[in-house]
Amino acid sequence: MAEPIRTTCAYCGVGCGISAMPTGPRSVVINGDAAHPANAGRLCSKGTHLGETVGLTGRLLHPMVGSRRASWDKALDLVAKKFRETIARHGPDSVAFYVSGQLLTEDYYVANKLMKGFIGSANIDTNSRLCMSSAVAGHNRAFGEDIVPASYDDLDEADLIVLVGSNTAWCHPIVYQRIQAARAARGAKLVVIDPRRTETCEDADLHLAVKPGADVALMNGLLAWCVAEGMTDPAFLGDSVTAPDGFWDHIGTGHDLWTTAKTCDIAPALLEQFFRLFAATPRTVTLFSQGINQSIRGTDQVNAIINVHLATGRIGKPGAAPFSITGQPNAMGGREVGGLASTLAAHMDFAADNVARVGRFWAAPTMATKPGLKAVDLFRAIGEGRIKALWVMATNPAVSLPDAGRVREALETCPFVVVSDIIADTDTSVHADVRLPAAGWGEKDGTVTNSDRTISRQRPFLTLPGEAQPDWWIVTQVARRMGWRNAFAYDRPADIWREHARLTAYQNDGARLLNLRAWATIGNDAYDAMEPFRWGDTPFADGRFPTPDGKARLVLTKQMEVQAPLKDWPMTLNTGRYRDQWHTMTRTGLAPKLARHREEPLVEIHPRDAQALGIGDRDLAQVQTAQGSSLFRVMLSQGQRVGEIFTPIHWTDQVSSGGRTGLLPRPLVDPHSGQPGFKSTPASVERV
Ligand code: SF4
Repeated sequence: MAEPIRTTCAYCGVGCGISAMPTGPRSVVINGDAAHPANAGRLCSKGTHLGETVGLTGRLLHPMVGSRRASWDKALDLVAKKFRETIARHGPDSVAFYVSGQLLTEDYYVANKLMKGFIGSANIDTNSRLCMSSAVAGHNRAFGEDIVPASYDDLDEADLIVLVGSNTAWCHPIVYQRIQAARAARGAKLVVIDPRRTETCEDADLHLAVKPGADVALMNGLLAWCVAEGMTDPAFLGDSVTAPDGFWDHIGTGHDLWTTAKTCDIAPALLEQFFRLFAATPRTVTLFSQGINQSIRGTDQVNAIINVHLATGRIGKPGAAPFSITGQPNAMGGREVGGLASTLAAHMDFAADNVARVGRFWAAPTMATKPGLKAVDLFRAIGEGRIKALWVMATNPAVSLPDAGRVREALETCPFVVVSDIIADTDTSVHADVRLPAAGWGEKDGTVTNSDRTISRQRPFLTLPGEAQPDWWIVTQVARRMGWRNAFAYDRPADIWREHARLTAYQNDGARLLNLRAWATIGNDAYDAMEPFRWGDTPFADGRFPTPDGKARLVLTKQMEVQAPLKDWPMTLNTGRYRDQWHTMTRTGLAPKLARHREEPLVEIHPRDAQALGIGDRDLAQVQTAQGSSLFRVMLSQGQRVGEIFTPIHWTDQVSSGGRTGLLPRPLVDPHSGQPGFKSTPASVERV
């Protein structure tokens, strides 16, 4: 009997291990991998039903030029020629890649190398920009490197778990189960800070329905409380942390309990209960997710959380850390190879010595010397005609970016668009000049890095359908045709992995924490047999940080004024996920059982607002913003704050004429990270 294949889930950054037993050419039985550290055999509904999604419905099986099938040679020659010609005529910054956390680390590595080392531009950004780039910017500001200072094991050790801006029960279900297990085992307390009363709040010890956008005030208020109560850690602050001028005066002014409660619209007694609990519990993990990151103040919100942990010494110890739980299956692999326009490679930025070091390692002819355009700016540049050739890999920006109507217009006007994807027709690929059939989950071979930096394999157990090829192969073939045959002479993903590992160790004197030296020389067999790799020590356990002086940095964060409702847009729109769907449903939409949880896109609204607007439960309503409008079914919900509505992100033109949330948010971004603010768009709702 065949052995099950150990692989990693296709969806979220929890990165659950899966045991896949193929039962036919396109069928498989899915179980959790009991030996994987992220899930110990457990799977959520999405992972459990992965077997229903491996059929060939809707697959792109052949290269297409326009609407005609083409050979790989013809399609690849055309892509290479168009990119070469565009660069020759308009310069390296006239082309761009927009990639995805669905890519494996090896795919990401070669795409980043091609753009930043050989084309000579940093115009490669990723849909991870929409997901966790504020956490990246916050980590860099506080620690000097994009290090998540926690692992899932810390949840087992914590006495208090604070969830900020996260519907963990739906969006990271296995993490939520682990939290519940920790509570059962050691009585850990759970506090949820979220404007919405979600399923995650149902069993919490405390729910703080914070006013959207007031998280900086809340965390600064918590820090002020800890200072006033003598609950900071002077020794740790003295040895391991620096504060900018005016930091402590700032915290000491206007952050008292009453002022904080008013700003956050939380009852003072409830807020005090949380402050007391936090101050009394050294083993506290604060997990934060999209409610923090997807904000035009996202980076400051991240740093306000980290500030509290640094000032109270709740970091570098078991069960005590700020913990960004975000991401796709490759939550951190893309970050580690430099898949963001704002980073170079191997956790390096664009400092001149880093550019020179990476250039030497790659023997690169034309290194990018400065950050490229981040997602929202990148598509704006396309619309303005500054980007003339675009390659979109494994993502659907015509649905997922804010102000998606503008994104479509940009794609339509771009002179040359390539889309490599597993799906034939997406809202993005309908604008493509060339479509390239990519390998999907169960067909791909490589590594992913989850939210706690565990590196796991995604292994193939299905044959490649039609003429589909892995993304690393497609990128490599284009790079070779553009003239860089030797630099992209990889035969298999393990070759790319070894090169990535060598780069992390190359002239790395230990100042950078990302160092995969041990993996630089492994053989193919060892790569094939790779067990989930976990970093051994608790990060920062020695109180040293990868900054020039070895100290972490407190960052002065100020609460910006929360916008009052506008006359024409009296509601505030928040957006997010459903429990059983993923992204734009190209995969989860194939599993009938997953559709039963929420069969259609709903706008959730407080009954009091609905009554004032003459809207009833199950009515149809048009949600409108300055960017666009779309139709939703109404769901009355006491979990919404008055004045706020919620819609899901998943529905596309391919499955529905309504529920198009992407058309609605403003294309406003955080100034540090470039992450869009999806959580608070002025809106109106009208019964149809
Ligand atoms: Fe997959 Fe995430 Fe569910 Fe785990 S929690 S099974 S990684 S979707």
